[in-house]
Amino acid sequence: MPTSHSPIVTYSPAYTIVPTYECFNRCAYCNFRTDPGKSPWMTISEAETLLKPLHSQDVCEILILSGEVHPHSPQRQAWFQRIYDLCELALAMGFLPHTNAGPLSFEEMQQLKKVNVSMGLMLEQLTPELLKTVHKHAPSKLSEVRLQQLQWAGELKIPFTTGLLLGIGETEDDWWETLEAISQIHQRYHHIQEVILQPHSPGNQQTFDAPPFDPHQLPRVISQARQILPPDITIQIPPNLIKDAKWLLACIEAGARDLGGIGPKDEVNPDYPHPDYQALQEILEPAGWELVPRLPVYPQFDDWFSEELQTAVRRWRRTSPPTPLLQGEGSKNNPSFPGSAWECHTGGSASKSAAE
Ligand code: SF4
Repeated sequence: MPTSHSPIVTYSPAYTIVPTYECFNRCAYCNFRTDPGKSPWMTISEAETLLKPLHSQDVCEILILSGEVHPHSPQRQAWFQRIYDLCELALAMGFLPHTNAGPLSFEEMQQLKKVNVSMGLMLEQLTPELLKTVHKHAPSKLSEVRLQQLQWAGELKIPFTTGLLLGIGETEDDWWETLEAISQIHQRYHHIQEVILQPHSPGNQQTFDAPPFDPHQLPRVISQARQILPPDITIQIPPNLIKDAKWLLACIEAGARDLGGIGPKDEVNPDYPHPDYQALQEILEPAGWELVPRLPVYPQFDDWFSEELQTAVRRWRRTSPPTPLLQGEGSKNNPSFPGSAWECHTGGSASKSAAE
């Protein structure tokens, strides 16, 4: 875990596959979903075709990001099985899967743990006020449902990523309340790896008519979040949504230490392409920060997995990332790794960040 005393900022070289864009929710800020039945599900052979070239592009994490099929839909079991099969495929091809598919049943989470090294679900905001506005037509955005996911992940020992979506109609107090809730659950189970602070960034498909979250506010939110969250949770910010290099650096100075999965496309914010490694390094290096790739699971969680998953993770930990490619060299989608070793997020640095 990088700390405020460390010059290291991490990111995960990642590629996203989308089992389906169909979603029974209609969040007003969504730029991802299609109506049920309007998005053909990704087949295993399509996924295989997408994943094969990634071996030469040094991708480690496969993010399986799906729209949601209603828990009572007759399609639910087939939807879940497709997600499971895609994870299994990614694992068999040597990648490390991380699934975010909305709220799952306890049994579904238990199953997916077998084929994922970590999982995720945004809390966004806990305030029920949003159920009258942006979440009016989003039944799975009930705060109790989402909090339960965090709790189940803890009970099942699944390393987890969650986060807040900022600027969707909530108040400042709502931010601190949501962060406090994450903190409390983590103190019980110690399973939250990262908390994402994601500024609302309007896209072309959304119906929510509101300005973007003011990036100038982010460093203050990060700083306060750092005070609220336990030191062994890393704060993640999406660099494609913080366009101004000066403000990206201010966010890091305030306590953010991870830039999340960097890949060819941000499926949730398709209007905001990810910067590549080189562009990020040009911002960070002159300011004294080192940009280092990480795996989608931190080492303190390695023994939470089956022997098969532990073997897959160990293989990656032993591998040194290759030297960086220059801009234009190799695939244009290549996130380009630095030549240093994978960052090891160990619990040992937690005491350092206690002062953050
Ligand atoms: S934000 Fe997620 S849950 Fe909401 S409509 Fe879009 S895909 Fe569905």
